[in-house]
Amino acid sequence: MTSKIWFLTGSQGLYGPEVVEQVAQNSQAIVAQLQGAGFPAEVVWKPTLTSKEAVLRTMLEANADDDCIGVIAWMHTFSPAKMWIAGLDALNKPLCHLHTQANVELPWSTIDMDFMNLNQAAHGDREFAYIETRLGIARTTVVGHVSAPQVTARLDRWIRAAAGAAATRALRLVRFGDNMRDVAVTEGDKVEAEHVFGVSVNTYGVNDLVDAVAQVDDAEAESLVTQYADLYDVAPELLGERRDSLVYAAKQEVALRSFLEAHGAHAFTSNFEDLGALRQLPGLAVQRLMADGYGFGAEGDWKTAVLVRTAKVIGQGLPGGASLMEDYTYNLVPGQEKILGAHMLEVCPSLTTSKPRLEIHPLGIGGREDPCRLVFDADPGPAIVVALSDMRDRFRLTANTVQIVGPDQPLPKLPVARAVWVPDPDFYTSAECWLTAGAAHHTCMTTNVDADTWADFAQMTGTELALITQGTTARAFANELHWNQAYYRLARGL
Ligand code: MN
Repeated sequence: MTSKIWFLTGSQGLYGPEVVEQVAQNSQAIVAQLQGAGFPAEVVWKPTLTSKEAVLRTMLEANADDDCIGVIAWMHTFSPAKMWIAGLDALNKPLCHLHTQANVELPWSTIDMDFMNLNQAAHGDREFAYIETRLGIARTTVVGHVSAPQVTARLDRWIRAAAGAAATRALRLVRFGDNMRDVAVTEGDKVEAEHVFGVSVNTYGVNDLVDAVAQVDDAEAESLVTQYADLYDVAPELLGERRDSLVYAAKQEVALRSFLEAHGAHAFTSNFEDLGALRQLPGLAVQRLMADGYGFGAEGDWKTAVLVRTAKVIGQGLPGGASLMEDYTYNLVPGQEKILGAHMLEVCPSLTTSKPRLEIHPLGIGGREDPCRLVFDADPGPAIVVALSDMRDRFRLTANTVQIVGPDQPLPKLPVARAVWVPDPDFYTSAECWLTAGAAHHTCMTTNVDADTWADFAQMTGTELALITQGTTARAFANELHWNQAYYRLARGL
Protein backbone atom coordinates (compact mmCIF):
# COMPACT_ATOMS: atom_id res chain seq x y z
CA MET A 1 0.00 0.00 0.00
CA THR A 2 1.54 3.27 -1.07
CA SER A 3 -1.52 5.51 -1.08
CA LYS A 4 -1.23 8.48 1.24
CA ILE A 5 -3.55 11.08 2.70
CA TRP A 6 -1.86 14.32 3.70
CA PHE A 7 -2.98 15.86 6.99
CA LEU A 8 -2.71 19.67 6.98
CA THR A 9 -3.12 21.80 10.08
CA GLY A 10 -3.81 25.49 9.87
CA SER A 11 -2.73 28.12 12.39
CA GLN A 12 -1.05 31.54 12.35
CA GLY A 13 2.11 33.13 13.74
CA LEU A 14 0.24 35.68 15.86
CA TYR A 15 0.22 33.50 18.98
CA GLY A 16 4.00 33.04 19.21
CA PRO A 17 6.22 29.99 18.70
CA GLU A 18 5.07 28.09 21.80
CA VAL A 19 1.48 27.96 20.66
CA VAL A 20 2.50 26.91 17.13
CA GLU A 21 4.67 24.18 18.69
CA GLN A 22 1.73 23.01 20.79
CA VAL A 23 -0.45 22.97 17.69
CA ALA A 24 2.14 20.75 15.98
CA GLN A 25 2.20 18.33 18.91
CA ASN A 26 -1.57 18.14 19.08
CA SER A 27 -1.98 17.58 15.37
CA GLN A 28 0.69 14.87 15.43
CA ALA A 29 -1.27 13.16 18.21
CA ILE A 30 -4.42 13.31 16.07
CA VAL A 31 -2.57 11.89 13.08
CA ALA A 32 -1.23 9.08 15.30
CA GLN A 33 -4.81 8.22 16.26
CA LEU A 34 -5.86 8.25 12.61
CA GLN A 35 -2.89 6.05 11.69
CA GLY A 36 -4.24 3.44 14.11
CA ALA A 37 -7.73 3.53 12.61
CA GLY A 38 -7.05 0.87 9.95
CA PHE A 39 -7.64 3.10 6.93
CA PRO A 40 -6.70 1.70 3.51
CA ALA A 41 -4.21 4.56 3.05
CA GLU A 42 -1.51 6.01 5.27
CA VAL A 43 -2.26 9.36 6.94
CA VAL A 44 0.84 11.58 6.72
CA TRP A 45 1.38 14.54 9.04
CA LYS A 46 2.62 17.75 7.46
CA PRO A 47 4.12 20.77 9.26
CA THR A 48 1.65 23.36 10.53
CA LEU A 49 0.76 25.97 7.93
CA THR A 50 0.91 29.61 8.97
CA SER A 51 1.50 31.48 5.71
CA LYS A 52 0.10 31.86 2.22
CA GLU A 53 3.39 30.74 0.69
CA ALA A 54 3.55 27.57 2.77
CA VAL A 55 -0.06 26.68 1.95
CA LEU A 56 0.47 27.10 -1.79
CA ARG A 57 3.76 25.18 -1.74
CA THR A 58 2.17 22.29 0.18
CA MET A 59 -0.82 22.06 -2.18
CA LEU A 60 1.45 22.06 -5.24
CA GLU A 61 3.48 19.26 -3.67
CA ALA A 62 0.30 17.30 -2.94
CA ASN A 63 -0.70 17.68 -6.58
CA ALA A 64 2.70 16.46 -7.76
CA ASP A 65 2.91 13.44 -5.44
CA ASP A 66 1.52 10.40 -7.24
CA ASP A 67 1.01 8.59 -3.92
CA CYS A 68 -1.10 11.40 -2.44
CA ILE A 69 -4.76 10.56 -3.11
CA GLY A 70 -6.30 13.29 -0.96
CA VAL A 71 -5.82 16.02 1.61
CA ILE A 72 -7.40 16.48 5.05
CA ALA A 73 -7.38 20.02 6.42
CA TRP A 74 -8.12 21.22 9.96
CA MET A 75 -7.74 24.62 11.57
CA HIS A 76 -6.48 24.02 15.10
CA THR A 77 -6.47 27.75 15.88
CA PHE A 78 -7.78 30.65 13.93
CA SER A 79 -6.05 30.73 10.54
CA PRO A 80 -6.95 33.82 8.50
CA ALA A 81 -8.39 32.28 5.38
CA LYS A 82 -7.05 34.66 2.75
CA MET A 83 -3.79 32.75 3.17
CA TRP A 84 -5.60 29.62 1.90
CA ILE A 85 -6.96 31.13 -1.34
CA ALA A 86 -4.05 30.41 -3.69
CA GLY A 87 -3.44 26.94 -2.26
CA LEU A 88 -7.08 25.84 -2.39
CA ASP A 89 -7.35 27.17 -5.92
CA ALA A 90 -4.32 25.13 -6.94
CA LEU A 91 -5.24 21.88 -5.18
CA ASN A 92 -6.42 19.20 -7.59
CA LYS A 93 -6.73 16.30 -5.15
CA PRO A 94 -9.87 15.44 -3.12
CA LEU A 95 -10.28 17.57 -0.01
CA CYS A 96 -11.76 16.62 3.36
CA HIS A 97 -12.40 19.34 5.90
CA LEU A 98 -12.07 17.66 9.29
CA HIS A 99 -13.82 19.83 11.86
CA THR A 100 -12.34 18.49 15.08
CA GLN A 101 -10.39 19.67 18.09
CA ALA A 102 -7.63 18.29 20.30
CA ASN A 103 -9.67 17.93 23.49
CA VAL A 104 -12.94 16.11 24.03
CA GLU A 105 -14.13 17.74 27.24
CA LEU A 106 -13.88 21.40 28.13
CA PRO A 107 -11.59 21.83 31.20
CA TRP A 108 -14.34 23.73 32.96
CA SER A 109 -12.46 24.50 36.20
CA THR A 110 -9.14 25.52 34.63
CA ILE A 111 -10.05 27.01 31.31
CA ASP A 112 -8.43 30.40 30.64
CA MET A 113 -7.81 32.60 27.60
CA ASP A 114 -4.64 30.73 26.65
CA PHE A 115 -6.68 27.55 26.29
CA MET A 116 -9.34 29.44 24.37
CA ASN A 117 -6.79 30.81 21.90
CA LEU A 118 -5.12 27.46 21.38
CA ASN A 119 -8.33 25.48 20.85
CA GLN A 120 -10.53 27.57 18.62
CA ALA A 121 -11.31 25.27 15.68
CA ALA A 122 -14.95 26.12 16.40
CA HIS A 123 -14.40 29.43 14.67
CA GLY A 124 -11.10 28.76 12.87
CA ASP A 125 -12.85 26.11 10.81
CA ARG A 126 -15.75 28.48 10.16
CA GLU A 127 -13.33 30.99 8.68
CA PHE A 128 -11.78 28.21 6.57
CA ALA A 129 -15.17 26.91 5.42
CA TYR A 130 -16.15 30.44 4.37
CA ILE A 131 -13.29 30.63 1.92
CA GLU A 132 -13.86 27.04 0.70
CA THR A 133 -17.47 27.90 -0.04
CA ARG A 134 -16.69 31.30 -1.50
CA LEU A 135 -14.19 29.67 -3.90
CA GLY A 136 -16.59 26.84 -4.71
CA ILE A 137 -14.17 24.19 -3.47
CA ALA A 138 -15.69 20.70 -3.56
CA ARG A 139 -15.02 18.88 -0.30
CA THR A 140 -16.43 16.52 2.28
CA THR A 141 -16.92 17.92 5.78
CA VAL A 142 -16.50 15.54 8.72
CA VAL A 143 -17.41 16.76 12.22
CA GLY A 144 -16.34 15.35 15.60
CA HIS A 145 -13.46 14.17 17.77
CA VAL A 146 -11.21 11.58 16.12
CA SER A 147 -11.74 9.18 19.05
CA ALA A 148 -15.41 8.86 18.01
CA PRO A 149 -16.01 5.74 15.91
CA GLN A 150 -18.46 7.54 13.61
CA VAL A 151 -15.76 10.08 12.75
CA THR A 152 -13.13 7.51 11.79
CA ALA A 153 -15.80 5.48 9.96
CA ARG A 154 -16.76 8.55 7.93
CA LEU A 155 -13.11 9.31 7.20
CA ASP A 156 -12.61 5.70 6.13
CA ARG A 157 -15.41 6.05 3.58
CA TRP A 158 -13.98 9.32 2.27
CA ILE A 159 -10.49 7.80 1.98
CA ARG A 160 -11.97 4.82 0.13
CA ALA A 161 -13.78 7.13 -2.26
CA ALA A 162 -10.50 9.00 -2.85
CA ALA A 163 -8.79 5.68 -3.60
CA GLY A 164 -11.63 4.88 -6.02
CA ALA A 165 -11.31 8.26 -7.73
CA ALA A 166 -7.52 7.83 -8.03
CA ALA A 167 -7.91 4.34 -9.49
CA THR A 168 -10.54 5.51 -11.95
CA ARG A 169 -8.30 8.38 -12.99
CA ALA A 170 -5.55 5.85 -13.83
CA LEU A 171 -7.91 3.22 -15.27
CA ARG A 172 -7.43 1.62 -18.67
CA LEU A 173 -10.45 -0.19 -20.04
CA VAL A 174 -10.36 -2.75 -22.85
CA ARG A 175 -13.45 -3.21 -25.01
CA PHE A 176 -13.66 -6.40 -27.03
CA GLY A 177 -15.78 -5.19 -29.91
CA ASP A 178 -18.23 -2.32 -29.80
CA ASN A 179 -21.64 -1.88 -28.20
CA MET A 180 -24.60 -4.13 -28.74
CA ARG A 181 -26.24 -2.79 -31.88
CA ASP A 182 -28.93 -0.11 -31.52
CA VAL A 183 -28.75 0.05 -27.73
CA ALA A 184 -28.82 3.65 -26.50
CA VAL A 185 -27.85 3.74 -22.85
CA THR A 186 -24.64 1.75 -23.18
CA GLU A 187 -23.31 4.33 -25.65
CA GLY A 188 -21.55 7.40 -24.37
CA ASP A 189 -18.88 9.98 -24.79
CA LYS A 190 -15.56 8.26 -24.16
CA VAL A 191 -13.61 11.47 -24.65
CA GLU A 192 -15.68 13.25 -22.03
CA ALA A 193 -15.30 10.22 -19.73
CA GLU A 194 -11.54 10.55 -19.93
CA HIS A 195 -11.83 14.22 -19.05
CA VAL A 196 -14.25 13.73 -16.14
CA PHE A 197 -13.11 10.41 -14.66
CA GLY A 198 -9.67 9.94 -16.22
CA VAL A 199 -10.52 6.49 -17.58
CA SER A 200 -9.06 5.59 -20.96
CA VAL A 201 -11.52 3.48 -22.98
CA ASN A 202 -10.29 1.72 -26.12
CA THR A 203 -11.49 -1.05 -28.39
CA TYR A 204 -9.58 -4.17 -29.39
CA GLY A 205 -10.49 -6.74 -31.97
CA VAL A 206 -12.05 -9.79 -30.35
CA ASN A 207 -9.89 -12.01 -32.51
CA ASP A 208 -6.86 -10.70 -30.58
CA LEU A 209 -8.48 -12.47 -27.64
CA VAL A 210 -9.20 -15.53 -29.78
CA ASP A 211 -5.48 -15.74 -30.60
CA ALA A 212 -4.61 -15.44 -26.93
CA VAL A 213 -7.02 -18.27 -26.06
CA ALA A 214 -5.40 -20.46 -28.72
CA GLN A 215 -1.99 -19.89 -27.19
CA VAL A 216 -2.93 -21.04 -23.67
CA ASP A 217 -1.31 -24.37 -23.00
CA ASP A 218 -3.36 -27.33 -21.85
CA ALA A 219 -1.48 -27.81 -18.58
CA GLU A 220 -2.28 -24.26 -17.45
CA ALA A 221 -5.96 -24.73 -18.24
CA GLU A 222 -6.01 -28.12 -16.50
CA SER A 223 -4.54 -26.61 -13.35
CA LEU A 224 -7.36 -24.04 -13.32
CA VAL A 225 -9.92 -26.82 -13.74
CA THR A 226 -8.45 -28.45 -10.62
CA GLN A 227 -8.90 -25.13 -8.77
CA TYR A 228 -12.51 -24.92 -9.97
CA ALA A 229 -13.18 -28.36 -8.55
CA ASP A 230 -11.94 -27.18 -5.14
CA LEU A 231 -13.78 -23.87 -5.13
CA TYR A 232 -17.14 -24.74 -6.67
CA ASP A 233 -19.73 -27.47 -6.84
CA VAL A 234 -18.93 -28.52 -10.36
CA ALA A 235 -21.69 -30.18 -12.38
CA PRO A 236 -20.58 -33.80 -12.94
CA GLU A 237 -20.93 -33.46 -16.73
CA LEU A 238 -18.26 -30.72 -16.72
CA LEU A 239 -15.79 -33.16 -15.19
CA GLY A 240 -17.03 -35.94 -17.46
CA GLU A 241 -18.39 -35.88 -20.98
CA ARG A 242 -18.34 -32.07 -21.29
CA ARG A 243 -14.93 -31.47 -19.74
CA ASP A 244 -13.72 -30.00 -23.01
CA SER A 245 -16.11 -27.05 -22.57
CA LEU A 246 -14.73 -26.37 -19.10
CA VAL A 247 -11.13 -26.56 -20.29
CA TYR A 248 -12.03 -24.06 -23.00
CA ALA A 249 -13.63 -21.74 -20.41
CA ALA A 250 -10.43 -22.02 -18.34
CA LYS A 251 -8.39 -21.04 -21.39
CA GLN A 252 -10.61 -18.00 -21.82
CA GLU A 253 -9.85 -17.02 -18.24
CA VAL A 254 -6.08 -17.38 -18.67
CA ALA A 255 -6.17 -15.49 -21.97
CA LEU A 256 -8.36 -12.65 -20.69
CA ARG A 257 -6.24 -12.20 -17.60
CA SER A 258 -2.97 -12.10 -19.50
CA PHE A 259 -4.44 -9.81 -22.19
CA LEU A 260 -5.61 -7.32 -19.56
CA GLU A 261 -2.30 -7.49 -17.70
CA ALA A 262 -0.37 -6.93 -20.91
CA HIS A 263 -2.44 -3.80 -21.60
CA GLY A 264 -2.33 -2.49 -18.02
CA ALA A 265 -6.13 -2.69 -17.97
CA HIS A 266 -8.33 -3.25 -14.91
CA ALA A 267 -11.71 -3.23 -16.66
CA PHE A 268 -13.17 -4.66 -19.84
CA THR A 269 -16.33 -5.28 -21.81
CA SER A 270 -17.56 -8.04 -24.09
CA ASN A 271 -20.39 -8.19 -26.61
CA PHE A 272 -22.28 -11.38 -27.48
CA GLU A 273 -22.90 -9.96 -30.98
CA ASP A 274 -19.19 -9.79 -31.68
CA LEU A 275 -17.49 -12.97 -30.50
CA GLY A 276 -15.23 -13.51 -33.50
CA ALA A 277 -14.04 -17.10 -33.36
CA LEU A 278 -14.66 -17.50 -29.62
CA ARG A 279 -16.49 -20.77 -29.05
CA GLN A 280 -18.36 -19.60 -25.94
CA LEU A 281 -19.52 -16.25 -24.63
CA PRO A 282 -17.11 -15.79 -21.69
CA GLY A 283 -19.13 -16.33 -18.50
CA LEU A 284 -17.08 -18.13 -15.88
CA ALA A 285 -13.93 -16.23 -16.88
CA VAL A 286 -15.70 -12.87 -16.55
CA GLN A 287 -17.17 -13.83 -13.18
CA ARG A 288 -13.79 -14.87 -11.81
CA LEU A 289 -12.02 -11.78 -13.11
CA MET A 290 -14.65 -9.57 -11.49
CA ALA A 291 -14.09 -11.47 -8.24
CA ASP A 292 -10.40 -10.58 -8.55
CA GLY A 293 -11.16 -6.87 -8.79
CA TYR A 294 -11.62 -6.25 -12.50
CA GLY A 295 -14.45 -4.05 -13.71
CA PHE A 296 -16.79 -5.53 -16.31
CA GLY A 297 -19.73 -4.47 -18.43
CA ALA A 298 -21.66 -6.63 -20.89
CA GLU A 299 -22.79 -5.66 -24.40
CA GLY A 300 -19.97 -3.14 -24.67
CA ASP A 301 -21.17 -1.25 -21.59
CA TRP A 302 -17.93 0.45 -20.59
CA LYS A 303 -19.64 2.88 -18.22
CA THR A 304 -20.86 0.09 -15.95
CA ALA A 305 -17.43 -1.56 -16.21
CA VAL A 306 -15.94 1.68 -14.85
CA LEU A 307 -18.38 1.63 -11.92
CA VAL A 308 -17.65 -2.00 -11.09
CA ARG A 309 -13.90 -1.35 -11.09
CA THR A 310 -14.38 1.78 -8.96
CA ALA A 311 -16.49 -0.17 -6.47
CA LYS A 312 -13.88 -2.93 -6.33
CA VAL A 313 -11.19 -0.43 -5.33
CA ILE A 314 -13.41 1.42 -2.85
CA GLY A 315 -14.54 -1.80 -1.18
CA GLN A 316 -11.13 -3.48 -1.16
CA GLY A 317 -10.66 -5.65 1.93
CA LEU A 318 -14.25 -5.26 3.15
CA PRO A 319 -16.73 -8.13 3.40
CA GLY A 320 -19.18 -8.20 0.50
CA GLY A 321 -18.56 -7.33 -3.12
CA ALA A 322 -19.53 -5.64 -6.34
CA SER A 323 -20.90 -6.87 -9.65
CA LEU A 324 -22.49 -6.02 -12.92
CA MET A 325 -26.24 -6.33 -12.34
CA GLU A 326 -29.31 -5.90 -14.48
CA ASP A 327 -32.87 -5.27 -13.37
CA TYR A 328 -34.45 -8.23 -15.11
CA THR A 329 -38.01 -8.96 -14.01
CA TYR A 330 -40.42 -8.20 -11.16
CA ASN A 331 -42.57 -9.87 -8.57
CA LEU A 332 -45.64 -7.63 -8.52
CA VAL A 333 -47.74 -9.51 -5.94
CA PRO A 334 -49.23 -6.68 -3.82
CA GLY A 335 -47.20 -6.24 -0.64
CA GLN A 336 -44.41 -8.53 -1.89
CA GLU A 337 -43.02 -6.40 -4.71
CA LYS A 338 -39.40 -7.13 -5.47
CA ILE A 339 -36.86 -7.11 -8.27
CA LEU A 340 -35.11 -10.17 -9.69
CA GLY A 341 -31.76 -9.09 -11.07
CA ALA A 342 -29.27 -11.17 -13.02
CA HIS A 343 -27.50 -11.19 -16.36
CA MET A 344 -27.02 -13.63 -19.20
CA LEU A 345 -24.07 -15.08 -17.27
CA GLU A 346 -21.91 -12.41 -15.72
CA VAL A 347 -22.70 -11.80 -12.05
CA CYS A 348 -19.72 -11.63 -9.68
CA PRO A 349 -19.47 -14.33 -6.99
CA SER A 350 -18.25 -11.69 -4.49
CA LEU A 351 -21.98 -11.18 -3.84
CA THR A 352 -22.25 -14.57 -2.13
CA THR A 353 -20.53 -16.35 0.74
CA SER A 354 -22.03 -19.67 -0.38
CA LYS A 355 -20.24 -22.11 -2.65
CA PRO A 356 -21.33 -21.37 -6.23
CA ARG A 357 -22.31 -24.16 -8.57
CA LEU A 358 -20.34 -24.38 -11.80
CA GLU A 359 -22.72 -25.38 -14.57
CA ILE A 360 -23.14 -25.44 -18.33
CA HIS A 361 -26.39 -24.60 -20.13
CA PRO A 362 -27.45 -23.43 -23.55
CA LEU A 363 -27.58 -19.69 -24.21
CA GLY A 364 -30.42 -18.78 -26.56
CA ILE A 365 -28.56 -15.77 -27.92
CA GLY A 366 -25.20 -15.30 -29.64
CA GLY A 367 -25.26 -18.56 -31.58
CA ARG A 368 -22.23 -20.22 -29.94
CA GLU A 369 -21.52 -23.29 -27.88
CA ASP A 370 -23.04 -23.59 -24.41
CA PRO A 371 -21.13 -21.37 -21.97
CA CYS A 372 -19.90 -22.33 -18.48
CA ARG A 373 -21.10 -20.14 -15.62
CA LEU A 374 -21.25 -19.89 -11.84
CA VAL A 375 -24.77 -20.06 -10.39
CA PHE A 376 -25.71 -18.74 -6.93
CA ASP A 377 -28.04 -16.48 -4.99
CA ALA A 378 -26.61 -13.17 -3.72
CA ASP A 379 -26.46 -13.02 0.08
CA PRO A 380 -29.32 -11.18 1.83
CA GLY A 381 -28.40 -7.78 3.26
CA PRO A 382 -28.14 -4.09 2.41
CA ALA A 383 -26.77 -3.10 -0.99
CA ILE A 384 -26.83 -0.25 -3.45
CA VAL A 385 -27.26 -0.23 -7.20
CA VAL A 386 -25.53 2.53 -9.16
CA ALA A 387 -25.86 3.43 -12.83
CA LEU A 388 -23.95 5.88 -14.98
CA SER A 389 -25.74 7.52 -17.88
CA ASP A 390 -24.58 9.99 -20.47
CA MET A 391 -26.90 13.04 -20.50
CA ARG A 392 -25.16 14.58 -23.54
CA ASP A 393 -23.63 17.55 -21.71
CA ARG A 394 -22.62 15.58 -18.59
CA PHE A 395 -22.72 12.23 -16.85
CA ARG A 396 -25.33 11.34 -14.24
CA LEU A 397 -24.89 8.77 -11.50
CA THR A 398 -28.17 7.36 -10.26
CA ALA A 399 -28.12 5.21 -7.12
CA ASN A 400 -30.75 3.32 -5.16
CA THR A 401 -30.26 1.79 -1.72
CA VAL A 402 -31.85 -1.68 -1.63
CA GLN A 403 -32.23 -4.73 0.57
CA ILE A 404 -31.23 -8.04 -0.98
CA VAL A 405 -33.76 -10.49 0.39
CA GLY A 406 -33.23 -13.67 -1.57
CA PRO A 407 -35.89 -15.44 -3.62
CA ASP A 408 -39.31 -16.31 -2.11
CA GLN A 409 -38.82 -19.85 -3.36
CA PRO A 410 -35.89 -21.80 -4.85
CA LEU A 411 -35.21 -21.15 -8.55
CA PRO A 412 -34.24 -24.60 -9.82
CA LYS A 413 -34.75 -23.77 -13.50
CA LEU A 414 -32.86 -20.47 -13.57
CA PRO A 415 -29.31 -21.25 -14.81
CA VAL A 416 -27.65 -17.93 -13.85
CA ALA A 417 -26.44 -16.16 -10.73
CA ARG A 418 -29.00 -13.69 -9.40
CA ALA A 419 -30.03 -11.30 -6.68
CA VAL A 420 -33.54 -10.59 -5.43
CA TRP A 421 -34.05 -7.25 -3.74
CA VAL A 422 -36.54 -4.73 -2.39
CA PRO A 423 -35.56 -1.16 -3.27
CA ASP A 424 -35.86 1.90 -0.98
CA PRO A 425 -38.10 3.65 -0.23
CA ASP A 426 -40.54 1.16 -1.86
CA PHE A 427 -40.78 -0.60 -5.18
CA TYR A 428 -43.16 1.89 -6.81
CA THR A 429 -41.32 5.06 -5.82
CA SER A 430 -37.97 3.51 -6.68
CA ALA A 431 -38.95 2.42 -10.17
CA GLU A 432 -40.72 5.71 -10.93
CA CYS A 433 -37.68 7.72 -9.82
CA TRP A 434 -35.26 5.44 -11.69
CA LEU A 435 -37.21 5.92 -14.91
CA THR A 436 -37.57 9.66 -14.32
CA ALA A 437 -33.77 9.89 -14.00
CA GLY A 438 -33.32 7.98 -17.26
CA ALA A 439 -30.96 5.67 -15.42
CA ALA A 440 -29.59 2.56 -17.10
CA HIS A 441 -30.81 -1.03 -16.98
CA HIS A 442 -27.24 -2.13 -16.22
CA THR A 443 -25.94 -1.23 -12.78
CA CYS A 444 -23.07 -1.86 -10.46
CA MET A 445 -24.52 -3.59 -7.39
CA THR A 446 -22.32 -3.27 -4.32
CA THR A 447 -22.75 -4.63 -0.82
CA ASN A 448 -19.73 -2.84 0.68
CA VAL A 449 -19.86 0.69 -0.73
CA ASP A 450 -22.61 2.85 0.77
CA ALA A 451 -24.42 5.96 -0.44
CA ASP A 452 -22.12 8.39 1.45
CA THR A 453 -19.10 6.90 -0.30
CA TRP A 454 -20.69 7.15 -3.74
CA ALA A 455 -21.62 10.74 -2.89
CA ASP A 456 -17.98 11.44 -2.06
CA PHE A 457 -16.89 9.84 -5.34
CA ALA A 458 -19.46 11.89 -7.27
CA GLN A 459 -18.28 15.08 -5.60
CA MET A 460 -14.61 14.26 -6.27
CA THR A 461 -15.34 13.77 -9.96
CA GLY A 462 -17.78 16.68 -10.25
CA THR A 463 -20.55 14.31 -11.29
CA GLU A 464 -24.25 14.55 -10.52
CA LEU A 465 -25.56 11.90 -8.10
CA ALA A 466 -29.30 11.30 -8.04
CA LEU A 467 -29.93 9.17 -4.96
CA ILE A 468 -33.13 7.22 -4.36
CA THR A 469 -33.28 6.13 -0.75
CA GLN A 470 -35.40 6.09 2.39
CA GLY A 471 -37.43 9.29 2.49
CA THR A 472 -37.26 9.92 -1.27
CA THR A 473 -40.52 11.01 -2.84
CA ALA A 474 -41.14 10.93 -6.58
CA ARG A 475 -42.15 14.60 -6.71
CA ALA A 476 -39.14 15.90 -4.76
CA PHE A 477 -36.84 13.65 -6.79
CA ALA A 478 -38.21 14.97 -10.08
CA ASN A 479 -37.70 18.52 -8.82
CA GLU A 480 -34.13 17.69 -7.79
CA LEU A 481 -33.44 16.47 -11.32
CA HIS A 482 -34.80 19.71 -12.74
CA TRP A 483 -32.65 21.80 -10.42
CA ASN A 484 -29.61 19.65 -11.15
CA GLN A 485 -30.21 20.10 -14.85
CA ALA A 486 -29.81 23.85 -14.41
CA TYR A 487 -27.09 23.63 -11.77
CA TYR A 488 -24.72 21.36 -13.68
CA ARG A 489 -25.00 23.53 -16.77
CA LEU A 490 -24.34 26.70 -14.82
CA ALA A 491 -21.59 25.20 -12.69
CA ARG A 492 -19.69 24.11 -15.74
CA GLY A 493 -19.52 27.55 -17.26
CA LEU A 494 -19.46 28.40 -20.92
MN1 MN B 1 -27.34 -6.62 -20.40
